[in-house]
Amino acid sequence: MDFKDMIRVIPDFPQAGISFKDITTLLKDGEGYRQAINELKALVAHLKIDVIAGPEARGFVVGAPLAYALGVGFVPIRKSGKLPYETIEVGYDLEYGKDTLAVHTDAIQPGQKVLIADDLLATGGTIATSVRLVEQLGGVVVGAAFLIELVQLHGRNKLSGIEVLSLLNYE
Ligand code: AMP
Repeated sequence: MDFKDMIRVIPDFPQAGISFKDITTLLKDGEGYRQAINELKALVAHLKIDVIAGPEARGFVVGAPLAYALGVGFVPIRKSGKLPYETIEVGYDLEYGKDTLAVHTDAIQPGQKVLIADDLLATGGTIATSVRLVEQLGGVVVGAAFLIELVQLHGRNKLSGIEVLSLLNYE
């Protein structure tokens, strides 16, 4: 299945110069969505995973079905102020401004092997922040899985020592 045919590319969204990869056109295709998750499952099959963590919102759309398919748990990583229980937080720089991600303090047990999942790896800032949250809880990040990697942004350089697996590469 050619997943690139199912991903809509929008030039200059949300701002000039960004080529936005819109996965909603893949998600609404039942067979395409299922097969994309199945292929991601095959890509991570060699990793020993206790739990998957994914940042909101598109990390949920990839991470949760992958967790279900693997029979492991899913941990949501959210923007500050959204999670109801005790959290730890890590701030990070965006292209414009700053943001903060949070996770429940009891979401991951020390020593658990964690796969981080998201729709797309761009600069790697979001995933590097997710890695820090998981590691602060004592989790061991064994890999990071994406539907899409924007290879020219070299996000994987921010994830040294972590196996990065992506279904599709875009220049
Ligand atoms: P980054 O922290 O730079 O790796 O960006 C990560 C998040 O921003 C991803 O989870 C994507 O959802 C979103 N994102 C960044 N660049 C794009 C793009 N060109 N197309 C679609 N989503 C993007």
